[in-house]
Parts: sequence; C-alpha cells; structure tokens
Amino acid sequence: MPGMLTNWAGNIAFTAQRIDRPTTLDGLRRLVARSARVRVLGSGHSFNTLADTDGTLVSVAGLPPEIEVDRAASTVRVAAGVRYAELAQELHAHGFALPNMASLPHISVAGSVATGTHGSGAALGSLATAVRELELVTADGELRTLGRDRDGERFAGSVVSLGALGAVTSLTLDLVPAFELAQRVRTGLPLSVLDEHFEAVTSAAYSVSLFTDWRGPRFGQVWLKYAAGHEPRFPWAPEATGPVHPVAGMPPVHCTEQQGVPGPWHERLPHFRAEFTPSSGEEIQSEYLVDRRHGLAALHAVDAVRDVLAPLLQVCEVRTMAADDLWLSPAYGRDTVGLHFTWVKDTAAVLPVLGLLEERLAPFAARPHWGKLSTVPAGRLAALYPRLADFRGLVGEFDPRSKFTNAFLAPLLGDV
Ligand SMILES: Cc1cc2nc3c(=O)[nH]c(=O)nc-3n(C[C@H](O)[C@H](O)[C@H](O)COP(=O)(O)OP(=O)(O)OC[C@H]3O[C@@H](n4cnc5c(N)ncnc54)[C@H](O)[C@@H]3O)c2cc1C
Repeated sequence: MPGMLTNWAGNIAFTAQRIDRPTTLDGLRRLVARSARVRVLGSGHSFNTLADTDGTLVSVAGLPPEIEVDRAASTVRVAAGVRYAELAQELHAHGFALPNMASLPHISVAGSVATGTHGSGAALGSLATAVRELELVTADGELRTLGRDRDGERFAGSVVSLGALGAVTSLTLDLVPAFELAQRVRTGLPLSVLDEHFEAVTSAAYSVSLFTDWRGPRFGQVWLKYAAGHEPRFPWAPEATGPVHPVAGMPPVHCTEQQGVPGPWHERLPHFRAEFTPSSGEEIQSEYLVDRRHGLAALHAVDAVRDVLAPLLQVCEVRTMAADDLWLSPAYGRDTVGLHFTWVKDTAAVLPVLGLLEERLAPFAARPHWGKLSTVPAGRLAALYPRLADFRGLVGEFDPRSKFTNAFLAPLLGDV
C-alpha cells in the first residue's frame, strides 16, 4: 500500500508514521503486538479521520482473500479485507446471497461492518446484522473469536467496533438462497405525498431509495428494487423513460440495470456496477440516522433549510433499515431512516452547512454515520448511543493501553 496516504475521496490525508500490509496472520499478530499505536485501514472509503492513527496504519488486504462457503450452515467465512463485489460473485456462484448491499460494492467487508454501513429496506438490517462470528487480533497479538450464539451481549458490542477492539481478520456471515431482483425508477415524487404515505412509499418494495437535490420539495427519483415478477404498486409517481443516474447530468452507464430487467441480487442491490471501479471520488458524504417515527418530521426540517443546502449538494438519498441490537450501530434499538447527503468536494464550504443541518436534526436524536463527515461533538455522540458506556468497558478489556484508539475515538471513549 505504499503511497496510499489519503482516503478514497482524497479529503483526508492520513498522518500515520508507518503503513504496513502483512501477508500472513502471524505477521499481523507480530506487527500489532510490537506497535504502540495501530489502526486498521479497510478500503479507505470513509470520509473522516476514523481510520487514522499517529502510529502504524495496517491493511489486512494482503492476507489471503479466503471465502469459505458452508453450504450446510448457510454461512460464509470471509477474510476481512475482501470487498463486497468479490464476495457477492463467489456467493452467487454457490447459490447464496446476502440479504442486502450498500450502494457501492467496492467497500471492504470488515470496514463496512465496523461502521454500521447499510443499504435500504424497511425490513432489512444493516450489513453488520449478517455477522455471526468474527475473529480479531487484539492488542497483545492474540487471535480471539466472538460468536453471536456463544458470546451474546459481548458479541453485540464487538461487531460495529469502529476498529477500537482490534484488527478483524475474518467474519462469518449468515446467507440466504440466491434470488433475482428487478429495479425500476419513478420520477418526481412530491414531499407532500410522504405526509400521507410515508410508510407505504418507503416499504413499497424490497429496497426503496428516494433521491432529491433539495432544489424543491420533491424527490426527483425513487429507486424500487423488488423480487422479479412482483411489480410493486406505486401510484404516486410515473416511471422514468430511460435509465438514470441519481446525480442529475451524470451518465447512467455506471448504474445497475433498471427498467424492470430481472437479474441477480448483487447486480441490482448496489446502485453502482461492480465492473466500474471508481478509484477516487469528487464528492464528500454525510449521513444522519433517525428513528423511523421521526423520519417525516426530519425530512421537513431539512426542507426548511434546503435553500442553504442545495448549492453544495450533489444529491440526498433517503433509505430505511430495520432496528438491530448491535451496540454502536446507528440503527441500534430503532427502525431507522437514513438521510444521506453527497456534497461537492469543498470541505470548508460544507462544514458550516453540516452545523446547520445537525442543529435542525438534533431534536430527532440524529446519529451521524460513523464513516462520514459530521461536526457533532463527542459529548453529543455519546448521548446518542445508550450502550457507549458498555462499549468503553469492552475496549478497556480488549485494549487496556488504548493501542487501537486515535484522536477521533479518544474523546468518545473517555481517553483524553
Ligand atoms: C462512494 C461511496 C459509497 C458509499 N455508500 C455507502 C452506503 O451505501 N451505505 C453506507 O452505510 N455507507 C456507505 N459508504 C460509507 C462506507 O461504507 C463506510 O465508510 C465504510 O466504513 C467503508 O469501508 P472501508 O473498508 O472503506 O472502511 P475504512 O474507511 O477503511 O475504515 C472504516 C473503519 O473501519 C475500521 N476497519 C476497517 N477494516 C478493519 C478491520 N479489518 N478490523 C478492524 N477495523 C477495521 C477502520 O479502522 C475504521 O475505523 C460509502 C462510501 C463511499 C466512498
């Protein structure tokens, strides 16, 4: 990984003293054991300093990219550095699927799980909810395994870990049988329709995403992903006349197939095709996750400041996810609506707008996405996560010398 000193978007320059990419588990264990400070970098798709360290930045992408499907158990054990695109292809070849994927398939499995990354689907959990077991190298270089059935609450605390418990080396995920989906895009849904039909719209298909540029109180596009052959009822907006990209003016060629053409789950669930690998992005992202009961009110709060947001906004996406019990998951304990913002790449101009947005969303206890840009201070973050004190306890046990803590985490974990 020499030379990779920034994240995918290029808005963060890592400050690490050393960057290392061990190729064996023993090499990783030795490296972690002898390092005073260490953080693991996944595929570098986060937009903040969560992955950074002033010590050693270590990539697990050099470890053997194992993907072991257990047909009888309907699970897969996958090496932490593998990306969802490769994993999905292999699973599909074995007749299996993941219940959901994020918008981009190029992100690493461990990095996505560590930040509570999600797709959309009223009844679907975030990607971390598929995790059944994880193996990690802890601060002393030991390899530890935690499992959902065996470790109960401790497991629930260790999945969305923000990289604070150790270097995850593999994850075992629950699978479902492979399935086919089709995708259609509806255009021009007024916000006022949601006043009456919020639940019906957001659960009209297996996965629903609403896109707006907030230049008006309307959603320019609604993406519906549904079981092939089961056309969703959607009387509120007409179908797009051709394929579209969520960002106005961008070519749809990089987007997954639309217009109702059935295809494998992994070629419909992400918005973007696996075969187009964006190596860097001209964007920065933020996302705030609220209790679904407050989703509509939160959208109106954003609408009230849309004139301020719109000039810096490429697109805003609204998604849903089911509640889970993972301590630091943004969907912990509440069915959730995510309000995601893709901004132009101008951090100095975007930050004050985030402050305004966060002020407007504060009454809804909006939790910022761990991997995206926000200005919410650590004290407020702590108040948004009822299990944070328990998580601090886990960190104290796994990493008593705060080897895996960095400047982002220290105020959150009370290690200042
Ligand atoms: C174009 C784009 C689209 C996106 N779409 C979505 C989306 O649809 N939904 C969504 O929720 N998010 C989305 N994101 C955000 C992204 O999913 C998260 O930032 C995610 O963490 C990226 O994974 P990564 O491997 O790049 O993690 P990194 O940014 O590399 O790291 C994130 C965190 O994970 C930790 N980590 C990584 N690997 C390990 C490991 N092996 N062991 C321990 N800790 C580890 C790091 O230490 C760090 O704390 C998107 C980002 C981009 C750039």
